[in-house]
Amino acid sequence: MERAYNFSAGPSMTPVEILQQAKENLVSYPGAGCSVMEMSHRSVSFEKIIADAEESLRRLMHISEDYAVLFLQGGASMQFSAVPMNLSRRGQTTNYAVTGQFAGKALAEGERWGKAVAVTSSKADSFSHIPKITPELLSPDAAYLHITGNNTIFGTCYHTLPRTGSIPLVADWSSAILGCEIDVAAHALIYAGAQKNMGPAGLTVVIIRRDLLEREVDPIVPTMLRYRVMAENGSMYNTPPCFAIYMAGLMLQWVEDNGGVAAMERRNREKEALLYDFIDQSEMFHNPVAKEDRSIMNVIFTLPTQEDTKAFLRMAEGRGMINLKGHRSVGGCRASIYNGMPKEGVEALVACMKDYEEGLRR
Ligand SMILES: *Cc1c(COP(=O)(O)O)cnc(C)c1O
Repeated sequence: MERAYNFSAGPSMTPVEILQQAKENLVSYPGAGCSVMEMSHRSVSFEKIIADAEESLRRLMHISEDYAVLFLQGGASMQFSAVPMNLSRRGQTTNYAVTGQFAGKALAEGERWGKAVAVTSSKADSFSHIPKITPELLSPDAAYLHITGNNTIFGTCYHTLPRTGSIPLVADWSSAILGCEIDVAAHALIYAGAQKNMGPAGLTVVIIRRDLLEREVDPIVPTMLRYRVMAENGSMYNTPPCFAIYMAGLMLQWVEDNGGVAAMERRNREKEALLYDFIDQSEMFHNPVAKEDRSIMNVIFTLPTQEDTKAFLRMAEGRGMINLKGHRSVGGCRASIYNGMPKEGVEALVACMKDYEEGLRR
């Protein structure tokens, strides 16, 4: 089967050049005599792979030496627990902005550890917008404010970061990291699962301001969840997700070769405009998100009926466009247009939507 345009929200479409490159070196990595899957994580070859990946990420996101970069496992979901355990004392107040399902899950883990307060929520509006946050909304003694930068399921995104005063800002940027410029210096901590926009599943990146590593951590916190331990061991306290780090390294190199994050953002804005412009003039397709909060990476849209949705998804699949079904909790459709999705894929999707609306349903 030919490669389709894959609009999956994650794991997601990877540029084919990267897959080819991985394939070329799959059986024997140059100079190593074995595959990356088979080599020791203490080997010279792997030490270089992980160091290069970190350097590349630092260049791409302008990460200063004030921040540590960690390559971890457990997904973004593990960070829902690691963040409160490392950045707050047991029972301490923490603040959360609830803008979607993942934000809600982060809050729930925060509640296990301390007094996690939802300072704002867009749940009553079906998470269709990003509520404004001002310093007055926050608890004066909050250990941090946690936001979900891009809401993968509901198709919303923070286009400006909330002002938090002296309260550290923690953000889950899983689905927009490397897709748009993110001001790292405005954050105390950023985390992201790689499988949306940075490579395959199995790797989670944490970017943390180094002074936060000095904090006393409750003795009950498992070693594997301690940022300081991971930082002191160069993310290799135990066996890291070697192959996922290797693939992420290739992806980071690809982003650099293609002009960096600014160029990615420009491309992604062109892609999203194709979709949103079409949807906005359409009588049939609808996007429920407040315009100023629309996601650049996950474009959600609905059709008038369930039957239409099913028929449209079938038609798109027939034309080589897969994984356009919306998240199971919201229904409808969703086009995830991460860095790996070429503009041609989005053009093909818009053409398909147009044809469907005009009654040309093949
Ligand atoms: C996908 C996603 C998650 C969950 O990631 P896992 O790696 O599956 O734990 C969390 N937050 C956001 C914003 C996501 O898009």
